[in-house]
Amino acid sequence: MHPSYVGRFAPSPSGPLHLGSLVSALASFLDAKHHGGKWLIRIEDVDSQRCKPAHSIDILDTLASYQLTSDAPVLYQSQQTERYQSLIDELIRQNLVFPCQCTRQELKHLNGPHTHICSSDIKKPHAWRLISHNKDISFLDKRQGMQTQNPLQQIGHSIIKRKDLDYAYLLAVVADDHFQSITHVVRGCDLLDTTAAQINLFNTFEWNVPQYCHIPLVTDDNQLKLSKQNHAPAIPKANLETLKHALTLLNQKIGPQQTIQTTLDFAIKNWSLARV
Ligand SMILES: [Zn+2]
Repeated sequence: MHPSYVGRFAPSPSGPLHLGSLVSALASFLDAKHHGGKWLIRIEDVDSQRCKPAHSIDILDTLASYQLTSDAPVLYQSQQTERYQSLIDELIRQNLVFPCQCTRQELKHLNGPHTHICSSDIKKPHAWRLISHNKDISFLDKRQGMQTQNPLQQIGHSIIKRKDLDYAYLLAVVADDHFQSITHVVRGCDLLDTTAAQINLFNTFEWNVPQYCHIPLVTDDNQLKLSKQNHAPAIPKANLETLKHALTLLNQKIGPQQTIQTTLDFAIKNWSLARV
């Protein structure tokens, strides 16, 4: 048991909940509950262009119809911008970031990540990039094993605030994992490559780094990741067969239970990360 376990599911409301996101939600929920921990929901709506409040409502309704509810009030990233800005101000004060005005065209000509520190006129619109150092970061992923990544070589100096004034995912996700005292992150493998950059930012702020676990992605018949971009269909609400299908995709034991609550209770009791 981990009495201090705090897990989370953090969907971005750019479309309805699909089977791939239900599988991710379940994996993080079951791992938290199996360990006697808390499970929180965070709406990652920091990208104001792509995210719609109607999708947030629908995602939360769908999760609730599967008895997946947050143990603390749902946190909306769109309401956290003051906190994000104070962190950026702190990084500016400590010279840990630099302004970048590179155009799309200039970035294209780099033929790879943005690994240099560019010069900018701070009076004109600019993004902020976090300075990454050329060093390997290793971490033990509970599902993928030992990982070594070099954020500078792999993704360059990452944007933490965009030119359009929206805060970047990297800043928001690390700021909120810290703010919500998240101890365990269970999420899809598509985010594995971003993990060392996140650890780098945790280390910059001298915050505790959560334990990471990246689970295999659910793919469609063409081996494409189920995603909003690939137009994965919305799942029905409160559908026992859908829940059992998601548990099958996680390779978990399915009991003979006939309701969503009892099926979920059985899955919590019998949860095995090793089987995923
Ligand atoms: Zn630049």
